[in-house]
Amino acid sequence: CGIVGYVGHRQAAEVILDGLKRLEYRGYDSAGLVIAPQEQRGALSVVKKSGKLKVLSEALKQGPLVGTLGLGHTRWATHGKPNDVNAHPHLSEDGRLAVIHNGIIENYLSLKAKLVESGHVFSSETDTEVIVHLIEEHYARLEGDLVAAVRSALKEVSGAYALVVSHVDHELIVAARATSPMVLGLGEGENFVASDVPALLPYTREVIFLHDGDMALIAKDSLTVTDFDGRVLARPVTTIEWDA
Ligand code: GLU
Repeated sequence: CGIVGYVGHRQAAEVILDGLKRLEYRGYDSAGLVIAPQEQRGALSVVKKSGKLKVLSEALKQGPLVGTLGLGHTRWATHGKPNDVNAHPHLSEDGRLAVIHNGIIENYLSLKAKLVESGHVFSSETDTEVIVHLIEEHYARLEGDLVAAVRSALKEVSGAYALVVSHVDHELIVAARATSPMVLGLGEGENFVASDVPALLPYTREVIFLHDGDMALIAKDSLTVTDFDGRVLARPVTTIEWDA
């Protein structure tokens, strides 16, 4: 339902929690976030909980997640009941790849059957989790090209989505949009992505609205929008004049 992603110089968990609060008006049943470790090795750190953002922020007080790249989500369950396991982000079995998704993957049952047959173990009941395993497959085949792996995975997926992906070996957020809204926020030495503008307004008023069929590569010092075949697109920067 709500997505916030951050890469830059601030503590990502704080930016993400703040952004998710500004999207609370949309309603949700669970919330979660993933933070990349400061050193680019090991596993991603995840906290996800059913219930309100307050539950998530209490859990974070017990064990704060330190790092300057992260993704967060407020979920409105469509496939799989609202519980901690079904909350986003969803991670690969090795904990190195994370996906957050708004919307519905229409062909997830057939994709899931194929993936299970080839040895993938699912931990949630969501439609979203097929995207994780698909990207993981392509990532191995493409020898660590994250952007190409996301592109290949999305070619197999049909449905409505806005999604964000991160991997422990890349200081990058990959975003993609088909039908569900998504907006990029431009900063100085930091960049943002969100499902709606209010999440970005405390940090920047310079935004780029993604169109259906757009992908975005979001790094600390660069933002690139492409189509699903990797061709670079020129999307205008809009200055937001209103307040949330
Ligand atoms: N279909 C996904 C799920 O049920 C995403 C729901 C949403 O848009 O929040 O987990």
